[in-house]
Amino acid sequence: MTTIVRRKTRTCKIGDLCIGSDHPIVIQTMATANTEDVDALIKEIKTIEDTACQLIRIAIPNEAAAKAIPEIKARTALPIVADIHFNPDLAISALNQGADKIRINPGNFYDKSQLETIVNLAKQKQAAIRIGINVGSLEKDLLEKYGHPTPEALTESALRWVKFVEDLDFCNFIVSIKSSDPIATIEANKLFASKTDIPLHIGVTSAGPLLPGTVKNTIGISTLLQAGIGDTIRVSLTGSIAEEIEISKHILKALGLYPHGVDIISCPTCARCEIDLPALVQKVQKATSHIKQPIRISVLGCAVNGPGEARESDFGIAGGKDCGAIYYRGEVHKSNVPEKELLAELLSLIQEKLD
Ligand code: SF4
Repeated sequence: MTTIVRRKTRTCKIGDLCIGSDHPIVIQTMATANTEDVDALIKEIKTIEDTACQLIRIAIPNEAAAKAIPEIKARTALPIVADIHFNPDLAISALNQGADKIRINPGNFYDKSQLETIVNLAKQKQAAIRIGINVGSLEKDLLEKYGHPTPEALTESALRWVKFVEDLDFCNFIVSIKSSDPIATIEANKLFASKTDIPLHIGVTSAGPLLPGTVKNTIGISTLLQAGIGDTIRVSLTGSIAEEIEISKHILKALGLYPHGVDIISCPTCARCEIDLPALVQKVQKATSHIKQPIRISVLGCAVNGPGEARESDFGIAGGKDCGAIYYRGEVHKSNVPEKELLAELLSLIQEKLD
């Protein structure tokens, strides 16, 4: 696999988590539960605590939600991003309550002195800020200048707010430029990335339900990552946060940017397949999901592509007539293994080699 050369950026520190520079790309998501209902929120966060997720964003729509931050922080180890969008008072409350980072869309602020207060407070609290630039919150003058929220308009807006916070001598921030259109997202982020070394949070906003949302996010995020752009990612779906994390992980894994866990290569099957491959693949996936080491397992239906894929994998199965061959690093480990013993043979080989 070709190694992706990442864009050189500064580092943004969120609690103990570093984003940008040579730090691994951070996967994040946003909780959907009501922030004030701390039990419900923590229950949702627990579904992704032991996954690849490293950062959780929560909505702060009112003062009660801001006041819940200390209890939330006490009940999860994940750093907390308080999403306040445009209410300066809530940004101040969230910072005072210990948010590790706040997300604001400065284009929504009418009084720039409030933004100055927030930035100075973040500096004092050693918190981070995400400057969010969205199609929906682009400043009026830029809309008039460009006619539409073009990549140039979004980039000009981002650079405007970067200058604002840098003039206040604040540098612990990250920028996101998002659209629900993956192509517009790609173009705007590429343009911004060509002009600064500020770390970027990337993703396609409001991407829709699971299937179309996965496609849009994958196009937007993976195109940018392949160009070396992007330091933290959020897959946005009308779905569960566990799905967002799983898809994020698979995007990074497919690009060689997530060197952990099992990568399964399996074929779509066809008339040549003489074993129940879909069932076998599901079982292999489930039985190996706990493995943290980066290994590749190929599970192919027949000898047309099975041995070739096994050569490129750590472990492999190539199906035959009601049986299959097991491979280790391209060599046949056992042939003519009855179909019902394939899983057990594969798992025992994996255990032997990884121990
Ligand atoms: Fe068909 Fe064999 Fe290819 Fe699978 S590996 S799709 S069974 S030809």
